[in-house]
This record gives sequence, C-alpha cells and structure tokens, in this order.
Amino acid sequence: MLFRRCCSGSSSRRAAAAPPSPSLPPSLPLSPPTQRSGIRCFATFRHNICTNDWIAFPGVERRKRPQQMRPEVGMDKSKIPQWSANCPFCKGNEGQLPAKLLTLRASDHDPTCAPKDDFELYVLPNKFPVVAPSNCIADESLQYPFAASIMSMECNELVDCLNTARARGKLLLEATGFHEVVVDHPSHNLPIGHTTPVYWEMLFKAFRDRGLLLTTSPLIQSLLCFKNVGMFGGASMVHPHSQIIGLPIVPNQQLKLTDTAREYFQTNGRCLFCDYIKLELKEEVRIVELDSQFIAVVPFAAHIPYQILLLPLRHNYQFLSIDDDTLRALGRILHRVFQRINRALGDVDYNLVLRTAHLHRTRNQVYNPSCYYHWHVEIFPRLDSWPVAGFEFGSGIMCNAHMPEDDAKKLIEAGCD
Ligand SMILES: [Zn+2]
Ligand SMILES: [Zn+2]
Repeated sequence: MLFRRCCSGSSSRRAAAAPPSPSLPPSLPLSPPTQRSGIRCFATFRHNICTNDWIAFPGVERRKRPQQMRPEVGMDKSKIPQWSANCPFCKGNEGQLPAKLLTLRASDHDPTCAPKDDFELYVLPNKFPVVAPSNCIADESLQYPFAASIMSMECNELVDCLNTARARGKLLLEATGFHEVVVDHPSHNLPIGHTTPVYWEMLFKAFRDRGLLLTTSPLIQSLLCFKNVGMFGGASMVHPHSQIIGLPIVPNQQLKLTDTAREYFQTNGRCLFCDYIKLELKEEVRIVELDSQFIAVVPFAAHIPYQILLLPLRHNYQFLSIDDDTLRALGRILHRVFQRINRALGDVDYNLVLRTAHLHRTRNQVYNPSCYYHWHVEIFPRLDSWPVAGFEFGSGIMCNAHMPEDDAKKLIEAGCD
C-alpha cells in the first residue's frame, strides 16, 4: 500500500498556527435568535473549537427544501424525462421563481448555434440558502429584492466582527452571505454526453460575472462555485443546476490549501501549482487533456477514482480575472474531459468545484496570494457514495483503491471528438 501526498499538503503548520482555544462564554447560545434588533437570522455558523472548523447550520427555510432526488433513487438516468411538471426550473413552471439576477443565451456565445440548439442559462437567489444577506449588510446594487442599504459604519463593524471571531472566542455567527443557484440548462435531464463547449463556457461565465459582483461586498471573504450532479453527488434537485456562494469566512480547507502554497513559495520562491504542472508534464502518464492554455490530469495523489484536476498553464491566482477568450478555451477542454468521462464511465454522478483564491482583505499579509496561489477546477466522478468510513474518519486519510495512472490510461483510451 502506498501513501501519496497531494499538493494541498499537510495541515500540521496550520494546526500549530491556530489561535488558542477561546475560553467558553458564560452561557452558550443554544437557540439562535430568529429576530435581533430588526436583523433577520436565516442561519448560523457554529465554531467547532476542537477542530477549528466553522460548521453551517441552515435556517428553517433550507431544512424544508424539496428533495427532488429522493423519489428517483435507483431510477435509470436515461428514464428521467426531459420535462417535469413538479420541477420549478422546467419551462412553464417558472412562475414561482424570484427575479433573475443574470441571463445568458447560447446563441450570444456561439454564432453558429442553430435555433433548435439555442438555450438560456439564468441565475437566481437560492430559495433555500445556506447563507443569506441580512437586512443590515445587503447592498441594493446586488439586486436582492429584500436588500436594504446601510451606513458603512455598521457594515465595517460586522466585517471586523467576522474577521476576528475566532480570536474573540465567538462560537456562533449569523450565516450571512450570498447563495445563488445557476439553472444552467432548460432540459430536466441533461446527460454528461449532451453537454457542449458553450454549455461549460456559459456556466463559468456566470461564475465569473456573479462572482465579480458579489465580491464587491466587503462582507465576502471567499467565493465557492460548484456543481452537484445526481444522488451520489449530493444533489437535491434533478434539474441541471450549479451554485455560487459568497461566504463571510474563509473555510479551513481553503486556508489549508493557500497556507501550503504560501509556505512553498516562501521556501522555494515559486508557485507550487506551476511546479506541479511541470512535474505532470515531465511524467506525462497522468495527463488526460492538454492544450495551449490548460492541462487536465488525474492527480498523483487523487482522493478518489478518476478525480480530475484542471489548471491554467499560465500562472493566475484569481479565476475572476479570466477573459472571454480564456473562458471559451476552458469550455472546450471541459467538454473534452467530460466526453472522456462519459465514454469511460457512462453518465456518472459527479461534483465539480472551482477553487479560486480567497479575497485579499487582510492588510498585514506578508505575501499577496497573486504570487503563490493558482486557481483550478476539480471534478470528482461519484461512482459510489463517498468512500468515507472508520479509517478515513479516524485518520483523515482518504483510501483510494484506484491507481491514478490506471485511471488516466482509461480516460485517455476512452477518447473524445
Ligand atoms: Zn426540471
Ligand atoms: Zn502558478
């Protein structure tokens, strides 16, 4: 059995650098208030002082969200209809939806698009958010109908409170932020094999354009863009959709990733990810796709079978700075990668996660992440439920029964157009 170290590295330094455990307040706020000084509390983050993690506890609305996936457990995906009367995202059922925040059309991105192939992607506020804008911090320019402007003083106080929450020993925070859903295709059932380069280009354009707007809020410290597909992918809705979340904190996983990259930069004077790309180019055996702008590999220490790591070849820390031409190239390589996944594994469930640098708001940071971080996309095909059992929970070490070189070979041999 081999242990392989992934490029996100060890968290030992992070643990050592963690602030001392705060002393407990006189009484824990066991029942979060639903109303406080006119501020509506949608949900909360609780700080786990033993692991230094923030855990999200959704508000009442999210706990009541519909589970479209459940009745379709075990259903052959090819039998999922193109349209469902019960789906709020299917054509004709949109009456209950809130106002769209962004709309993109395929024909605007691909002039050769035939009218029958044209489709619309749109972004909405998530009706069942993990985090939501409070009346006290939301900004009218973000187009939330329930938002209200506030004096900047109040906003700054809240941001300061979030930034120093750990140090002050706060165990409970209002889960403020933005949570949006991207309805990325009109078909209720969109097999992997039916996605196109324009589909991926439009999805990532929505991530960029909404991300740019959301991060103008001083509250937002990190941006999370992802897509869950199928029951094993943890999706609650069948209809193809993705999510954009602006968080008022930097999650531990993101801190670990950036800390590891910063330490590597401080020691070697180079970007960890740029060096990792060189290693993969030298060894060749795990490269699934390569063009003049991007590389997609099964990582040397993949967490799960057929995991894909996709990186821009040119160093760039912040996805939000991507231009339209590079978005087009990203759409093309994602299409080829998903064609290979489809041919090798079939119409599998999966998760796709965009990992971009968190926002550089801390004034006293020694190195700006523009030097050492390198944005990337990870795809996790979900052949089975997440393989986390006693060994993984007990050790924190994932156990992958597939060798990455074998998985890469299968994806390479599967081919694409
Ligand atoms: Zn639908
Ligand atoms: Zn780099």
